[in-house]
Amino acid sequence: KTGAIIGAEALIRWQHPERGMISPAEFVPLAENTGLIVPIGEWVLRTACKQMSVWKSKGYQIDVMAVNVAGPQITRTDLVSLVKCALAETRLDPGCLEVEITEGFVMHDPRQTIRLLHELKALGILLAIDDFGTGHSSLAYLKHFPIEKLKVDQSFVKHITGGKHDAAIAQAIITLGHSLDLKVIAEGIELEEQQKLLHSMGCDEGQGYLFGRPITAKAFEQLLL
Ligand code: MN
Repeated sequence: KTGAIIGAEALIRWQHPERGMISPAEFVPLAENTGLIVPIGEWVLRTACKQMSVWKSKGYQIDVMAVNVAGPQITRTDLVSLVKCALAETRLDPGCLEVEITEGFVMHDPRQTIRLLHELKALGILLAIDDFGTGHSSLAYLKHFPIEKLKVDQSFVKHITGGKHDAAIAQAIITLGHSLDLKVIAEGIELEEQQKLLHSMGCDEGQGYLFGRPITAKAFEQLLL
């Protein structure tokens, strides 16, 4: 509605000394299979909290830093302790950190996840369900999740102006989210028509190439300035 920057999502790229920039689509699945995703994820969380803490102390107008958390970080490590430590080390206001967990993972073991989400919530952070609409959601569980936000998967946004089906799904997710007192953010907005349509549907927030491509922290700071 305002066009203002409300937050940032921490993304990772691999600058390889010989092969150049390597896409996360290439190395994240590998990191997940080898277990390296655990130390990488830990580094990402700590680095993102540190960066956000610096930006907040400089007084920039930014509300939230979103950090993606992978399944193995939840099943193989103590995510709650990690988040707690990262917040303490960086003295970041917990209300400025949003942890994103994919719908596919959340629904894998909903009972276990509800417990974890409540423990994370108790730290004062925000929680979002990522890639919503693609992960076999159980609506019966959704109402028990202590979350703030649904992220409409980019696959629905991509063809939203092209056919009535994707528009209908996006509208349904927005309506569902609002009925549960959740905010809804659309992922992967690339065109103004998509933004206009989503806005008319009542979608609260948006992200994607229309607003900004992935950039370095330094470049993002220029944007905030
Ligand atoms: Mn995400």
